[in-house]
Amino acid sequence: MVEAAALGIDLGTSGVRAAVLDARGNVLAVEGARFAALGAADAPAVWWQALADTLGTLRARLPLDGVRSVTVDGTSGTLVAIDQAGSVIGPASMYHARAADAAVLARIDDLAPPDSPARGAGSPLARAVDMARRPGVRAILHQADWIAGRLRGRFGATDANNALKTGADPDALAWPDWVGGAGLAPGLLPAIHLPGTPLGPVGAEAAALGLPPGAVVHAGTTDGCASFLATGADRAGDAVTALGSTLVVKLLSDVKVDAAAYGIYSHRIGGRYLVGGASNTGGAVLLALFGADRLAALTAALRPDRPTGLEYYPLLRPGERFPVSDPAFPPRLEPRPADDGVFFQGVLEGMAMIEATGYARLEQLGATTLRSVRTVGGGAANAGWTALRQARIGVPFLPSVSEDACVGAARLGLFGGLSEGKAA
Ligand code: ADP
Repeated sequence: MVEAAALGIDLGTSGVRAAVLDARGNVLAVEGARFAALGAADAPAVWWQALADTLGTLRARLPLDGVRSVTVDGTSGTLVAIDQAGSVIGPASMYHARAADAAVLARIDDLAPPDSPARGAGSPLARAVDMARRPGVRAILHQADWIAGRLRGRFGATDANNALKTGADPDALAWPDWVGGAGLAPGLLPAIHLPGTPLGPVGAEAAALGLPPGAVVHAGTTDGCASFLATGADRAGDAVTALGSTLVVKLLSDVKVDAAAYGIYSHRIGGRYLVGGASNTGGAVLLALFGADRLAALTAALRPDRPTGLEYYPLLRPGERFPVSDPAFPPRLEPRPADDGVFFQGVLEGMAMIEATGYARLEQLGATTLRSVRTVGGGAANAGWTALRQARIGVPFLPSVSEDACVGAARLGLFGGLSEGKAA
């Protein structure tokens, strides 16, 4: 029997998923548990219970004795406050929350570099300053740090990806002085490690969940980066397009790109940078225009060999961030042909144009030239759309190893960064 070698744990917005991989990166099992069945999604104790349940299910399927690396990804921007003894103080501050203190936001606005991802109304740094005022708080952690810390039996470590929007300098792996100036004592923040770095062996709580004593917890990453890594993309120029409610492109680059005006910033992964941008177009526009029930029939009628020439820019309302940055950017969905099949194809062609322009924009801003695209999300199964996109983008489209972020987390620990040809 092939032995388990790596465990990856994903803390998502609705639950926990965990993957077990063998030493070559093959997926042996994936299991999960939802928060809703256990309690509030902002209660760290609920996350831990969901993890315990998930590991229980995995253990019933296969032995975990061979697990050597344990790596956790979490929702980017979700924070936990703990006291001296490591106990949680209050609810988590969730990724979508807004910062309560306008004065703190104004200070960050003054102090942070112009392209800093720590800016904005939802700034995790501003929320961390709020949380640090709770009585007894001795440390602020990201969701993944807290889970990884409990598995190790010691808190105080984070990774450069989770720390990015909290104000970390990902190149120096340090908290810049201006973070303190914004109101957060540097001693409250965890030490920053490169994603995938071995941190130390698992502790007693992990052993109680069935993890072997020899397993080492590795520095984790965000759910977004883990989803990218899950696909198997691992070379400079490899990209992943997510066709979900919105259209998101991510490109592995040798060069860092930060452009706040476009909502673009760079995560460090395995000696490279993961550069991404999100358009407001995507599946939510398709649902609004056509309805979920009609997508399958319309998809079957696509004629990628017959372009409509409609040149739409499909948006639900004015405003776009990437690949054009303009809060008043108008949707373009006219003229509307009588035939809905032609209309649907025109909308997908417009989205393919936005995707192609997005990759071109990243390259224009200095990122490595695109060499391949993998696709994830609800739109990935649409073969006609894939054909339209491939014709427009003009690089090879490759299959994904997995769409499960937990698989990406496991690969990160297993390969210590990018797999770079080491995978099966
Ligand atoms: P998210 O997690 O962002 O909500 P998913 O990855 O689950 O999104 O994908 C859901 C989206 O997939 C929906 O918005 C829907 O429009 C889109 N979708 C579903 N089927 C098709 C199809 N046949 N062609 C194009 N898009 C589709």
